[in-house]
Amino acid sequence: MYQAKRAGGSQVWSFGKEDALRLSHRRRLRADLESASAARQFELYYQPQLDLHTGRIFGAEALLRWNHPQLGLLTPADFLDVLLESSAYEATGDWLIRLAFRQAAKWQTENSIPFKVAVNLSATTIQNCDLAALVAEAAEAACVCPSALDIEVTENVVMSDFAAASRALSEVRRLGVTVSLDDFGTGYSSLAYLTRLPVDRIKIDKSFVQELTAKETCHRAHAMVEAMVALSRALGIRTVAEGIETEAQFALVKELGCDAVQGYLIGKPVLAARIEPYAKISFGTVGA
Ligand code: C2E
Ligand code: CA
Ligand code: CA
Repeated sequence: MYQAKRAGGSQVWSFGKEDALRLSHRRRLRADLESASAARQFELYYQPQLDLHTGRIFGAEALLRWNHPQLGLLTPADFLDVLLESSAYEATGDWLIRLAFRQAAKWQTENSIPFKVAVNLSATTIQNCDLAALVAEAAEAACVCPSALDIEVTENVVMSDFAAASRALSEVRRLGVTVSLDDFGTGYSSLAYLTRLPVDRIKIDKSFVQELTAKETCHRAHAMVEAMVALSRALGIRTVAEGIETEAQFALVKELGCDAVQGYLIGKPVLAARIEPYAKISFGTVGA
């Protein structure tokens, strides 16, 4: 029934072998989740973010991974929906925020420089906990300033309860935390909401970046990215282009005026030990 509804409704879906396999896989993950927390199978990988004005790595986005004993290293696409429905500790913002602050503190102490860690928060975390109190307490426990944290939210998370999200995000911003609107351009992209939402950065979704270098879509993507950058600048919001995989994409987003970039070209998500805070990176002649 749910499959039929997801496919647009008013249609029939016959339950087949693949559906049975998918369901039993989900049931297995749900059961394994119960021991995964205690066995410390969850970890954060970090993907570097490069400031295009200074050419330096100024922060990293924390991305969740599950080191499953039989299935190997799983990415959020494999388990996030199951995890978010569960009561596992890692599904809460508490674990994520505390770990991110501890890691930011470690990098800042080792390198004597300000360095940001970005976390992806779910709608439940934004709406159901006292986010500002949690952030203040976790920053203090890690002996680091709240400004070491960047909170990434998608438009879907914000729109599920705009009033609650904007209240919670305004409160954490008053502490010095920055807020980024993730996957920008793929959801509602409501301009009215953008002007009312307390955000510091928008992350231009990787689909636009990829379209920039595809023959059939490059003109349209060029216009879209140009417009997003112009709008952000007018509103005093910084732009981060996501999913940079090639030097051509890097050159284009730089030329279009993005402030920062993230993607496999700069660095894939890795364990914390492999991130080099404030490393200087340049590509071709444009990045020099
Ligand atoms: P996202 O926040 O948009 O994160 C970026 C995703 O794009 C990551 O996938 C990253 O590995 C991938 N990526 C980065 N650079 C490139 C590139 O150059 N090319 C391509 N093709 N992909 C790139 P990942 O780690 O599988 O995460 C997927 C999504 O899961 C994230 O998308 C985010 O929405 C969600 N997620 C990750 N960690 C957490 C978490 O701790 N909590 C919550 N609630 N969601 C999370
Ligand atoms: Ca993100
Ligand atoms: Ca994103």
